Amino acid sequence: MIEQYMEYLKQYDGPSITLMEVCGSHTAAIAKSGIRSVLSPKIKLVSGPGCPVCVSPSGYVDQLIHLALEEGVTITTFGDLLRIPGSRMTLNESKGLGAKVEMVYSPMDVIRLAKENPQVRYVFGAVGFETTIPVYTVLLDAIREEKLTNLQLLTALKCMPPVIDWLCEGGAKLDGFIAPGHVSVITGSSYYIPLAQKYRIPFGITGFNPKELVAGIYGIVRMCEKKEELLSAGKVLVKNFYTSVVTEQGNTRALEKMETYFEPGPAVWRGMGNIPGSGLYLKPEFSLYDAGSRGLDDDQKINKACRCDQVLMGKIASKECPLFGKVCTPLSPQGACMVSSEGSCYQNYLNRDN
Ligand code: SF4
Repeated sequence: MIEQYMEYLKQYDGPSITLMEVCGSHTAAIAKSGIRSVLSPKIKLVSGPGCPVCVSPSGYVDQLIHLALEEGVTITTFGDLLRIPGSRMTLNESKGLGAKVEMVYSPMDVIRLAKENPQVRYVFGAVGFETTIPVYTVLLDAIREEKLTNLQLLTALKCMPPVIDWLCEGGAKLDGFIAPGHVSVITGSSYYIPLAQKYRIPFGITGFNPKELVAGIYGIVRMCEKKEELLSAGKVLVKNFYTSVVTEQGNTRALEKMETYFEPGPAVWRGMGNIPGSGLYLKPEFSLYDAGSRGLDDDQKINKACRCDQVLMGKIASKECPLFGKVCTPLSPQGACMVSSEGSCYQNYLNRDN
């Protein structure tokens, strides 16, 4: 069956179709699989703003650095965030100025640190989409259970539907979305129905291995081809091709927990600006655990020629940036998309021969 799907996608000769993947793990999986090179020239895959680290604005990094330089404060976070440029430097570079920054592998590591060092105020740099936010609810539960008073979160949490809405509203020339697989595990496939209906655009939820990608892309292409027919039959343009882990309603327990702790608000996406309702913030009743996450709106480039904003919106491919592979490489990243392993430029650099 997969061979037939592949053949169909190779030979496709209908109207041009552009699909956007909005998940950093899909960006990585698609780049690694080399799938683009075997699709018909009439099927184009573009990457969207699916890497949570890449879309965190410089003002957020600046605030982490500011806190890390304060007496008695230590910032803990995941590795990728250490290399993302702020307006003047990265968190890693700020260590040279005396900033106290520790990398952790799990947010729960910081519980141990906070218990062992009660004299230190720990701030966890929490970035992520719907996939990761449930982990932070577990962390918040633990902070409350342990009655820790020296641990807070500085959040840059974002939700997928508002940015997809923003892209469609802004006239992005897209025919369909490869909906994020991991996000969908939490949110369920029904999450995309309002957007599919509003913009009459197909969404397909796919897995990450090459066979799952081929099956998903084939399914979305077929939905694009039969769109009018499906709509006149009253069908919804959302299809779940990742049924082994994604359900229609998602993980309701995780969703309830997210609703308990967080509420939506405006958020700045690097290079894209402020998107209403696209951020999640700790509710006022949990402000004790918030290190000041709202209003970190500053968004500056360290290299003015960096075109991350256009890459994140799927307007250009990484290789169209004049710095790609020359001045900008994973060893000397000039923009956020070259830093994270889920960044579009990073993946396209690693897999540039595919
Ligand atoms: Fe920015 Fe580098 Fe990507 Fe160019 S190649 S858009 S400079 S991250």
